[in-house]
Amino acid sequence: MNERSFKMKKRSGFMLTLAFVLGVFYPAGAQEVIEGLSYLDNKPVAVTIKDGKIVSIKKIRKLKAGNENLYLSPGLIDNQVNGFVGVSFSSEGIPLTEEGMDKATQALWENGVTTYFPTVTTNSRSEIINNFSILAKAKNNPSTLGSIPGFHLEGPYISPVDGYRGAHSLHFVRPPDWEEFMEFYKASDNGILTVTVAPEVEGGLEFIKKCSEKGITVALGHHNASADIIDQAIAMGAKTCTHVGNGIANEINRHVNPLWPQLSDDRLMMSIICDGFHLRPEEIRTFYKAKGVDKTIITSDVSEYAGMKPGIYKNLDGEDIELTADGEVRYPAQKVLYSSAAPINKGVWHIMKVTGCSLGEAIQMASTNPAKLYGLNDRGSLQPGKRADLILFTLGDNGLTIQKTIVAGKTVYTR
Ligand SMILES: [Zn+2]
Repeated sequence: MNERSFKMKKRSGFMLTLAFVLGVFYPAGAQEVIEGLSYLDNKPVAVTIKDGKIVSIKKIRKLKAGNENLYLSPGLIDNQVNGFVGVSFSSEGIPLTEEGMDKATQALWENGVTTYFPTVTTNSRSEIINNFSILAKAKNNPSTLGSIPGFHLEGPYISPVDGYRGAHSLHFVRPPDWEEFMEFYKASDNGILTVTVAPEVEGGLEFIKKCSEKGITVALGHHNASADIIDQAIAMGAKTCTHVGNGIANEINRHVNPLWPQLSDDRLMMSIICDGFHLRPEEIRTFYKAKGVDKTIITSDVSEYAGMKPGIYKNLDGEDIELTADGEVRYPAQKVLYSSAAPINKGVWHIMKVTGCSLGEAIQMASTNPAKLYGLNDRGSLQPGKRADLILFTLGDNGLTIQKTIVAGKTVYTR
C-alpha cells in the first residue's frame, strides 16, 4: 500500500465513520427508547418508539442518575391558539406566512404543545377565507409534522352584545350564514374541526345542527343563551363550551345567566383558560368540581404576544398593550385583559396548584380529553400504536419546564 492509497483508505474510513455519526447509514425504522417518570403514577417507565409511533411502554426499576425528576407524558393539545411569538392567525395588519407558521409551531413545541388548533376569529369574509387558505397549507406542510390536525373558528357568529362579544369586532359579528361558512370550510381544505357559536342568535340552532351533521364539534361561547336555548343547542349536537367564565359580561343576572345551565348539564364539556389571570382560583375550583376531570379541557387562548419579551406593544389601533414579566397582557385604555400569553403548560401547573388535582389528571385535561372530543384517535395518551408525541419535563415551584419535545418520533426541542 503506497502512501496515497493509505491516505485514500484512511479518508474513506473517516467518511464512513462520519456517515454513521450523521445518521446516513442509520437503519430505517430504528427504535428509540425514552425514559421518564410516568405522568400517571410517577413511576419510571421506558417508552419505545419507532417510525413515529409508540411501540411499547414498560415499567423499569429506576431512571439514570440525573434524570430522577424527569416526567414523561403525551404532548399537550391546545384547541385555541390565536397566535404565538408575534405571529397572528387572524391578523389584518401582519400577513400570515408559511415561515410565520413554522416559527409559531416551533415555539409551541418548545412549550410542550405538540398539537394545536390555529384559531381564526371574527373578521370580514375575505380575511377569514384568506387566513384559512394559508393555514390549510401549513396544516399539510411536512415541516409541521402533523401538529395541526385542523382549525378552530371562533366567531363571527356570536353575540353582538357588549361583554358577551368580548374583544371581537362588533363590525364583523353577524348571524350564521351557511353558504358563507361553506366558503370558509372549503378555504380551510375541510380543516375546520370546531366552531364557537352563540346559539341564541338568529339561525344559531339550525347552524349547530348542520355543523354537527358534518362532524364539526360545536362549542357554545361568547353568548347569552337561556337554559332553554342551551338545552336545544345540545339536542342539535353542541358538545362543549368555550372558555367558560370568559366571553361573558361583567354584570350578570344571578339566576338567569349562561353559566348555570352550562355547568350543570353533564352532556356538555367545557374549556377553561388556566393562565392565572382570566379566572379566579375559586372559579376554576368551582367549574372543575361541577364538570369533573373527564369533562374539563385546559385551553390557552394565547395570542401573538405569547413568547414575546415583556414590554409595551401597540395594537392595530396604535393603543398600548402591556405584556408583564409574569405573562399578563393588559389593555390599559380599557382596563381589561387583552388576551392570554401563557401556553397550556402553565395551565397544567396552575390547575394542579388551585384544585389539588394530580399531574395525571391535569395532563388528561390538556391532552387526552381534547383528543377524544375532536376524534383525534392517534394521539393524547401513552399507548402502543399512538403517535410518538412525547414531552419530558420537570415540575418546580415556578411551573412546568419542558426539557425535551418529540413530535411524531422526531426530537424537535431539547432544553
Ligand atoms: Zn373568546
